[in-house]
Amino acid sequence: MNEFILNNKPSHSAILGGHEHNLMESLLMKATKLKCIALSLAIASSFAHAAQIKVDEDTVFKPTGKGFGAVDNDATERAKRSAAKAARVSRTQIVYHGGPVMTNPTKLYYIWYGNWSSYTKAQQILVAFGSGIGGTPAFNVNTSYTSAAGAKVVNNVQLAGQYSDNYSKGKALSDQNILDVVTAAISSNSLPNDPNALYFVLTSPDVTETSGFGSQYCGWHANATIGANDVKYSFVGNPITIAPAGCGVNSPSPNGDGGADAMASVMYHELSETVSDPDGNAWYDGSGNENGDKCAWNFGTTFKATNGASANQTFASRQWLLQQMWLNVGAGSCVQKY
Ligand SMILES: [Zn+2]
Repeated sequence: MNEFILNNKPSHSAILGGHEHNLMESLLMKATKLKCIALSLAIASSFAHAAQIKVDEDTVFKPTGKGFGAVDNDATERAKRSAAKAARVSRTQIVYHGGPVMTNPTKLYYIWYGNWSSYTKAQQILVAFGSGIGGTPAFNVNTSYTSAAGAKVVNNVQLAGQYSDNYSKGKALSDQNILDVVTAAISSNSLPNDPNALYFVLTSPDVTETSGFGSQYCGWHANATIGANDVKYSFVGNPITIAPAGCGVNSPSPNGDGGADAMASVMYHELSETVSDPDGNAWYDGSGNENGDKCAWNFGTTFKATNGASANQTFASRQWLLQQMWLNVGAGSCVQKY
């Protein structure tokens, strides 16, 4: 569900500084190759499922959490796909699958994992992002997503708490370790157990996520039951040393810290997917792509920030370069604001 796959669009080179172009081009080629690994895995996955179910034009895909849709064997979903086909709805249209969306104000909790002591500027930038994204025209795009009862996602996000985890699970984290980190922060009462929240596990540059950070994705979101609550959480790593090209690190970048500026766009991606599809059963298209996936690495029109970097958003007294987001109005489109 929901991972932010590697940046491998040629258009990315358009926002790079001139002297770095050749180096970045070679890195982009590397990233493209890595993307091919993801595509190969996607095919293998479909074939694996194909042994159990015939893949045909009514086959339905759902978000998996690892970069590509998995076959959904649910008969109801197949019937919906059939109906959608009959109504000439394209596989690329984002459709509602009946699950909840986040219709209360969303709280953010940051878990700073690892050692951020040399990256306090990055922390300040990401605190500004979390404190400022609520109420913006950018986040307002998510109000185009509704629940079964017709309630809209509300344009209200607050950074409600922060917590530091000093390598409790080491420097090479599995997906389970990420959940363990969130669970520990909640069960120790360091952070509240809040079903109307997104818990971001933000890792320092020396930490790896072994299921594919930097090779298959730049971040992902998921949900789990903790106590009595459906808890939404997300992993986003600082890519400045692990995947600078693949995860969108630019120089210059709007706030002068390439790692943090890249993370802000990934966080906007995962936050938007969380409010519109918190449990992976609400809004996504026929390929399992959620609203952030459909516009990944698509920035739209940019302007020159005060430091010369490319930017496309202004809030919290700062400039930002955030990917566009899928607007669920009419046939839908990637937009910067709504
Ligand atoms: Zn995604």
